[in-house]
Amino acid sequence: MHRLLSSEVLWSGLRNSEPSFAGARSQQDDRARYLSSITLGEPGKCPEDAVLLIIVTDNSGSITGGNDPVGRRFDESWLAIARVGARCRCGADMVATLTFDSPTSLDLSPSSITKPHLVEIQNSLAIPPDGAGSSCLGPSLHRAFTLAGKHPDHHVVLVVLSDFLLCDRHPDGVMAKMGEFPGADVHAVVLNASPPPVLVDADSVTVTEVAHGSPVGTVARAVFTALASSRPGAKPKAPEMAGGSKTTSLGRR
Ligand SMILES: [Zn+2]
Repeated sequence: MHRLLSSEVLWSGLRNSEPSFAGARSQQDDRARYLSSITLGEPGKCPEDAVLLIIVTDNSGSITGGNDPVGRRFDESWLAIARVGARCRCGADMVATLTFDSPTSLDLSPSSITKPHLVEIQNSLAIPPDGAGSSCLGPSLHRAFTLAGKHPDHHVVLVVLSDFLLCDRHPDGVMAKMGEFPGADVHAVVLNASPPPVLVDADSVTVTEVAHGSPVGTVARAVFTALASSRPGAKPKAPEMAGGSKTTSLGRR
């Protein structure tokens, strides 16, 4: 049933740039097929305190060597949001997106995760054309703190997708600040790099490591787990730990 539901949502999201030529159509078919193969688990019911998920993406050169190469992070993040959004009945659960280059034209202010908003959410999950590819987390983390402060009625969850090879003047200090995020529900998705000890040691930070060759759906499951963590009855699928996989989940919660 989840599969069917997600396919419908997928197509509504993919339709916004209806291709007029076969190549693009085939690409969209591949994408829909890829995403519909990912199982995420049970999204549960809307929590008493609505959730605001803030996703921060790093689009620096070390991440973007190709078209969304590590774990298809944009597509998979969107899938996780769409799967929970399909079960959102309160209409108050929201997502916001930032990048290390924020402010950019693709930043998304808090938006409902319900079906009518999935296209704009999908559009925001991309490399912004007006971004410089910053490797500094500090400025966008500051924005995330500000956003959280404006939504005291929400349970705010922070997800940062990066290799955490940061150019901030004091990288460990910036990463330690992640652990102080309001609500203490922080997820670091570490792309193709070793997780920094300062994050692994932070009690409020769940760390997921994603490498080239990690099982399909690793990023989606990390985002799904973050978004569904406070939903009653939610049963996120555990990260795959296939033999020989480079993927490890170092969650401490
Ligand atoms: Zn809801």
